[in-house]
Amino acid sequence: MERIYIKDLKNKIGEEVKIAGWVDVRRDHGKLIFIDLRDMSSKVQMVALPSHKEAHEAASKIRSEWVLEIIGQVNKRPEKMINKNEELGDVEVEIKELKVLNEAVTPVFEISNDGREVNEETRLVNRYLDLRRNRLQKNLRMRHEVIKFFRNYLSDKNFAEIETPLLTKSTPEGARDFVVPSRLYNGKFYALPQSPQQYKQLLMAAGMEKYFQIAKCLRDEDTRGDRQPEFTQLDLEMSFVEQKEVMNLIEEMLILMVKKLYPQKKIQQIPFPVLTHKEAMEKYNSDKPDLREDKNNPNLLAFCWLVDFPFFEKTDKGDWTFTHNPFSAPKPEHTKMLMKKENIGEILTTQYDIVLNGFEAGGGSIRNHKPEALEKVFEIMGFEKEKIRQDFGHMLKAFSSGTPPHGGIALGLDRLMMILQNEPNIREVIAFPKTGDARDPMMDSPSDISQEQMAELGIQIKKENKDK
Ligand code: ASP
Repeated sequence: MERIYIKDLKNKIGEEVKIAGWVDVRRDHGKLIFIDLRDMSSKVQMVALPSHKEAHEAASKIRSEWVLEIIGQVNKRPEKMINKNEELGDVEVEIKELKVLNEAVTPVFEISNDGREVNEETRLVNRYLDLRRNRLQKNLRMRHEVIKFFRNYLSDKNFAEIETPLLTKSTPEGARDFVVPSRLYNGKFYALPQSPQQYKQLLMAAGMEKYFQIAKCLRDEDTRGDRQPEFTQLDLEMSFVEQKEVMNLIEEMLILMVKKLYPQKKIQQIPFPVLTHKEAMEKYNSDKPDLREDKNNPNLLAFCWLVDFPFFEKTDKGDWTFTHNPFSAPKPEHTKMLMKKENIGEILTTQYDIVLNGFEAGGGSIRNHKPEALEKVFEIMGFEKEKIRQDFGHMLKAFSSGTPPHGGIALGLDRLMMILQNEPNIREVIAFPKTGDARDPMMDSPSDISQEQMAELGIQIKKENKDK
């Protein structure tokens, strides 16, 4: 007999079936033993009767989280026993045969509730148990549905999903890089990508025209509440487009996704309102304003776009730096100012950010595709010619080889899922997140490496650092 999913028991009343899963809870009433069995699809109450002696005896020994295979008869529950709160509350499985596929030590915490009372360290050390709970199962499954929707939507619009390297080169892109020492080239380092920004632009140089990727981004930033050292973006780039086309594409994709996967949610305003950075700062004193009319309504989604950001801002030291992305193009009417390096503080970029309920859900821009314009950006930031060549020579070369005008955007998938699933932080929608202070307490990472590995990499740890 082939195993079926618990959710399909609805259509099997009166039949004998095989199901398998985890013991959610067991209630032993002596004669009658009730076991709630859970699989990835649902949960059902089963009963072991003394008349099936072997199964009854086996049922008396089992405990929570044991893994069972059951052959049983699917019965309709009598009217007064129906549990309206459960999907399969009107069904019961009478156990005929019970096979223990694996035993389990007593779990360190309750799994049948939502787990919000358990401290985070304990949850993360035992993440495989934590993930068994219904709330997290749903979060991960909905995350999959959302990603699948985006993939299909973009594929239908002729985007190609293309992977870009994880081992790349350290460049000043805004955040601090994670670096990987090279064994073959001792003393040299790869960097993990802060985003696929340069590669996706090089794919435009390569004539791919429409690219996307569900991309891991890695940034070695100081830990702050809800940040993760690695996070996921829906990253995309398109050739021959203007600002409005990228914004329209993303807006349509988000609206259709919400309609299909979250029909209970209401988008406050369609088309999404567009605010200039100046308006937002003046009116809301924020570049990610929360425009919800009713902040108590968990099903209200207030998207808005922010545009017309200043291209450059002054650093603490008084130098110019980019506000978002050095690869952005200025607004077309401000190109002259960039090229002449005039009124630098007034240059606005083609950047657009998408904001949802007060969170930055994504951002992008139309890029400079002419080498001389990109060079100007770095010159304004005070980079010497040699440094520009060293760090970005490959981009300048590509831009001198027939790169089309292009632009793109990246959506922060973790944050989007957090809001859609009404979760308080992104760790609830990531399968294996790090703690707030960037550790994986389950794997015990980061961790030491052996002397042998260090020797191969040509690395030595300074004693004073190790003792910190
Ligand atoms: N790479 C940018 C970021 O991670 C997004 C973009 O401009 O497409 O913020």
